[in-house]
Amino acid sequence: MHTSPDLAEPASAPGPAPAEARTEAIDAVVLGWVDNAGITRVKAVPYARLDAVATHGVGFSPVFDVFLADDSITAGRHVGGPAGDLRLVPDLTALRPLAAQPGWAWAPGDRYTQEGVPYTGCQRTFARRMTARAGLRGLTLRMGFEVEWVTGIEDADGRFVPAFSKAAYGMTRVVRMSDQLRELIRALAAQDVTVLQVHPEYAAGQLEVSVAPEDPVGAADTTVLVRETIRAVAARHGHAVTFAPCVVPGEVGNGAHLHFSPWREGVNLCHGGEGPQGLTREGEAFLAGVLRELPALLAVGAPGAASHLRLVPSQWAGAYRCWGLENREAALRLITGMAGERQHTANAELKCFDATANPYLVTGSVIAAGLAGIEDDLRLPPEVPGDPGASGGVPRLPGSPAAALAALEASAVLREALGETLFDAITAVRRAEIARSAGMTPTEIAAEARRLY
Ligand code: GLU
Ligand code: MG
Repeated sequence: MHTSPDLAEPASAPGPAPAEARTEAIDAVVLGWVDNAGITRVKAVPYARLDAVATHGVGFSPVFDVFLADDSITAGRHVGGPAGDLRLVPDLTALRPLAAQPGWAWAPGDRYTQEGVPYTGCQRTFARRMTARAGLRGLTLRMGFEVEWVTGIEDADGRFVPAFSKAAYGMTRVVRMSDQLRELIRALAAQDVTVLQVHPEYAAGQLEVSVAPEDPVGAADTTVLVRETIRAVAARHGHAVTFAPCVVPGEVGNGAHLHFSPWREGVNLCHGGEGPQGLTREGEAFLAGVLRELPALLAVGAPGAASHLRLVPSQWAGAYRCWGLENREAALRLITGMAGERQHTANAELKCFDATANPYLVTGSVIAAGLAGIEDDLRLPPEVPGDPGASGGVPRLPGSPAAALAALEASAVLREALGETLFDAITAVRRAEIARSAGMTPTEIAAEARRLY
């Protein structure tokens, strides 16, 4: 067993259990990867093998690219069947101890062919490629996912009962969850995740963590790590958690809102410009590109039947294809922040996305859409300042996974950016998920999503 010097205990770390991971030897490392259905799948290696694995990776069948959320398997034109293999190579720059799983560490993986060439179906490589594409234009992106979840208890019959109900945003929830939330905050700090805020959310059992913005690949890595940390901390308290977009049909669901801002030479393009609400012209064009591709992006960022149970008006899920300053019903909400700090804080938030999405596909696709907006020098349509449902005439987002998939299939921008292998695998998975959920009732869809995500 070895203890990585990077995992050494900070001199002054006080307090109980989870932070112990920093002092304990690491015995095993999880190599994490997220599939096209948004499920995190892994392999694990003994820590002693990490150096060798970092060079050559571990075997990883390409068929995982066409796994569905329930572990059934479909096939695309390029992927499917039992033959072939890839290498899943951990990114050691992103290695973190898992504070709520003492003795374990985690590293996200990139996939390569056995010849050592980046695999064209690799989602994390796609996000990195789009980040580099923005870099060629002199742009950097700051991104961060909000994490909403519902904490509950599974009864003997496998039924999920939210751990608490009243009050939305209430102190009673924090009192009730005090030890667990403290442990979570400590665990995330021990894993070098910068937590900005933790709050009790609206629905029964619902809580939220938001984290500091970072580069697009880092933001996707972080959201995977945060979710699994939430799950692990809850398990230590006998709780189950779900990130499913819809837990109870008709009630407020869990979003995975993406905050993003394009920057040029250290200047935030969402602030101090000539465009609407202080956007720079380039920032406006980036946002307009995202808004133009939003129906197609929905098939990436809110992909399943449960996503569409969540995407209804009046639940702050962003069900309308419009933008507005601080408008929680707009799919694209512009946030400026406090006077005096807006050059740092101004950003846009895509509210319509959820945690059944692959976050690497989300960050990469949003960059592709935004860059195409800059390429075409797009302008935003007029802002929607109030409730889009009340003003009338504001279009809704596609109303079903099939409608969103049709938009994705028609999107030249995303087809080009994703490339043939990845585009084909994603659309094959979406088609198979649509067939699988046909005939399921909303209650069945929500119950399944609750179990799987
Ligand atoms: N839970 C809501 C959703 O489904 C979002 C609430 C909020 O604005 O944070 O996205
Ligand atoms: Mg929220």
